[in-house]
Amino acid sequence: MSYNKENIFAKIVRGEIQCKKVYENDYVLAFHDINPQKKVHILVIPKGEYIDLDDFNKRATDKEIVEFNKAVTHVANLVGGKTNGYRALTNIGQDGGQEVPHLHFHIFAGEKIGKMVS
Ligand code: AMP
Repeated sequence: MSYNKENIFAKIVRGEIQCKKVYENDYVLAFHDINPQKKVHILVIPKGEYIDLDDFNKRATDKEIVEFNKAVTHVANLVGGKTNGYRALTNIGQDGGQEVPHLHFHIFAGEKIGKMVS
């Protein structure tokens, strides 16, 4: 499967669609999920064109990988995860339940997140 440049997060990275931005640097963008599942629900995405975590870990530069990982922690701490913890998760492919084919980590925080898998 090749990367689809018309996916919604690609459009957000290009500034064609608005988002509620939480954090941005040269490598990543973080914004509020449009349909929050918990009190705090943020998405962290790389600016590079990667379908999912597997694609990212195979093709991204070491710099991109380091920056993305650091950003997940930075953003989680920014939105309150430092105090009481948080959950970071990423879905991969059909069985993983991934809807948007651009790598993203969900950051859930602000309350007990609950059961890990339903
Ligand atoms: P996933 O199922 O892991 O691919 O998650 C995709 C997430 O993207 C869902 O939680 C959606 O609510 C969220 N989402 C879809 N479109 C937008 C958008 N335009 N802005 C913010 N979040 C979005």
